[in-house]
Amino acid sequence: MIHEILPVGPLQCNCSVIGDEGTREAMVIDPGDDIEDVLALVRKHNLQVKQIVITHAHIDHVGGAMKLRAATGAPILLNQNDYALLKMLDVQAQWIGVPTPGKVDIDHSLGQADTVKAGTLMADVLHTPGHTEGSVCLYFPAEKMLIAGDTLFAGSIGRTDLPGGSFNKIISSLHEKVLALPDETVVVPGHGPATTIGEERQSNPFLVKR
Ligand SMILES: [Zn+2]
Repeated sequence: MIHEILPVGPLQCNCSVIGDEGTREAMVIDPGDDIEDVLALVRKHNLQVKQIVITHAHIDHVGGAMKLRAATGAPILLNQNDYALLKMLDVQAQWIGVPTPGKVDIDHSLGQADTVKAGTLMADVLHTPGHTEGSVCLYFPAEKMLIAGDTLFAGSIGRTDLPGGSFNKIISSLHEKVLALPDETVVVPGHGPATTIGEERQSNPFLVKR
């Protein structure tokens, strides 16, 4: 598997370019910004982008999606529970002081137990509400890797004080769906360094059993 992680935009959202070495088909997850740099990685590996997956509709994760779709023709996937947030992109742009990216159109909703494919690569969708209502994580069972969006970070969890956030829901999502994964699973969060499920199960202050 080809996997490039590129921190994009002023909030340095981890954008993942994940490609099949055989078929050269790829998915791009969370193209928040800096689409020229994302496309340079796609070209560097001679990939064809088949899916644009958005873990949740915060501007730093979705801001560049339309530009990437225009360049690749790939559909944009987002859980439908975040469609309302997506309509507030101009408000979100004001929160962090960036220009509004304009309207983003979603091609398909993405829900619990759906799968996303690129070549022979396959990811299971985990619907993990809490940071937002429509937050999802992508689990690659063959590679034992989780793309966690802003649900889980190394040593922390996603904030729940923004519209659509719920502390109780994120804690339930983490215990029921994320911590159900094997300890050796590598976690690539939406921001900051990678970690593992085992590490977070043991030492994440929000997750250790009291
Ligand atoms: Zn977020």
